Amino acid sequence: MNPADDRTSRNGEESGMEVWYSSTRNGRIRIKASEAILKGLSEDGGLFVPDHIPELEKSFQELAGMSYQETAYEVMKLYLTDFTKEELENCIASAYDSKFDTEEIAPLAYADGAYFLELFHGSTIAFKDMALSILPHLMITSAKKNKVKNEIVILTATSGDTGKAALAGFAGVKGTKIIVFYPKDGVSPIQERQMVTQKEENTYVVGIRGNFDDAQTGVKKIFADKELEERMNSQGYQFSSANSINIGRLVPQIVYYVYAYARLLGKEAIAEGDKINVVVPTGNFGNILAAFYAKNMGVPIGRLICASNENKVLYDFFRTGEYDRNREFVLTSSPSMDILISSNLERLIYRIAGNDPEKTADFMKALSGEGRYGITGEMREMLGDFYGGYASEEETAETIRELQKKTGYVVDTHTAVAACVYRKYVEETKDRTLSVIASTASPFKFTRSVMNAIASAIAPAIAPADAGKYDAMTDFELVDELAALAGKEVPEAIQEIRTAPVVHDHICEKDEMRRTVEEFLGLE
Ligand SMILES: *Cc1c(COP(=O)(O)O)cnc(C)c1O
Repeated sequence: MNPADDRTSRNGEESGMEVWYSSTRNGRIRIKASEAILKGLSEDGGLFVPDHIPELEKSFQELAGMSYQETAYEVMKLYLTDFTKEELENCIASAYDSKFDTEEIAPLAYADGAYFLELFHGSTIAFKDMALSILPHLMITSAKKNKVKNEIVILTATSGDTGKAALAGFAGVKGTKIIVFYPKDGVSPIQERQMVTQKEENTYVVGIRGNFDDAQTGVKKIFADKELEERMNSQGYQFSSANSINIGRLVPQIVYYVYAYARLLGKEAIAEGDKINVVVPTGNFGNILAAFYAKNMGVPIGRLICASNENKVLYDFFRTGEYDRNREFVLTSSPSMDILISSNLERLIYRIAGNDPEKTADFMKALSGEGRYGITGEMREMLGDFYGGYASEEETAETIRELQKKTGYVVDTHTAVAACVYRKYVEETKDRTLSVIASTASPFKFTRSVMNAIASAIAPAIAPADAGKYDAMTDFELVDELAALAGKEVPEAIQEIRTAPVVHDHICEKDEMRRTVEEFLGLE
């Protein structure tokens, strides 16, 4: 029998190359992909990492002829080696369907000398849909495979976009509940409205009085609480994470870098083997890490350009080799990147430390203790493919305005940070390699900042008459204004929340998160 025709054989058997997962802080752990997806985070606080990065099996000529879904299968089967072909294909088909408003799922748009990879065509119009529309399916499949009887409780801290994307993914999914914590004053009005109007009984949304790092720290503490875990278990629950530390989030994100390269080849924008650079607006370091994995799988990526906003802890890290979170937390117009602890960086640290869990654990201990660590010169040498840059608030607004004026293309604030850093990169290095800029949110999600930028509110000298022009308008009025300006229809995700009733109004202090979870679950 040809194993490729056997729909029940595991992907790892098919290719003969099983991938096992261990923890960045404990090398003795060795589990399958489905177990890593269920657990989310390792018990030692580490992140799950594959024991090797698999190579792509298909040529880019072949990949160029594939749909997004087919590409997803080609990439994901190499990591999720204990899934059967049928299981994985079902997950992919359930995720990447008409929830996306474009058949291409992740289209490329050319503007001002670079390609924007639009990752915002899913149900919540931000890039987290790319992974969070498939994660619930990967998780229930993993639960079935591992004969899990407990109900799975997804616990998530969000800086805005993850929350809604996770809610949308898990809402109504049998055998799961989802609890989302967001910083009460740290997300945009539209982001908040998207979350607090979420329907379905298995969803819970809580605003905390604190910032995103407080929310994330609180969630990590709850995950690490053994006593709570036992009580949960005795009452038929277990936690899992939908945060970008879950390997089930990371793997689907590798897909679009493979897809983008194949598409560029298909369009003849590049020739086979040509390098591209990628520019990624970065917060928790998940998206750019996926690009790094794609590069290591064989995608000809030159530089990985890591773009930060004024919370430029990563920029400083790439420039100095020191990661230091001891600094002021800045609220910016790109709130999904307002992060001082980029969790996924741990996977890169692990790798450049020679896949050494003891060293990684030491760095992370220093981070949670003193709030900083410095890597060795040897480790720094392994970061040559990365370039760190950042954009100030003014530069971000200017980038939106200039791009719109020059090309008519309107980008959101996060994407603008990347576009700005890309321009600085070219100025500094003169490297004109064709670049793909990850476009992580629709401008309709951050309408006020986008419209203010275009109206030159931040640079009133240029157009004094326009300054402050939008202050009197509601966010939804601005949405219509943007639609007219960009010549685009208002996305469905925005239309539906105009009238949806608020169903979640829970607020808590940052030290009350655990109690809130216990209340929701009715734990004794
Ligand atoms: C989450 C998010 C980012 C940052 O992505 P990371 O994977 O956390 O680095 C950037 N832009 C938007 C719009 C996001 O939602």
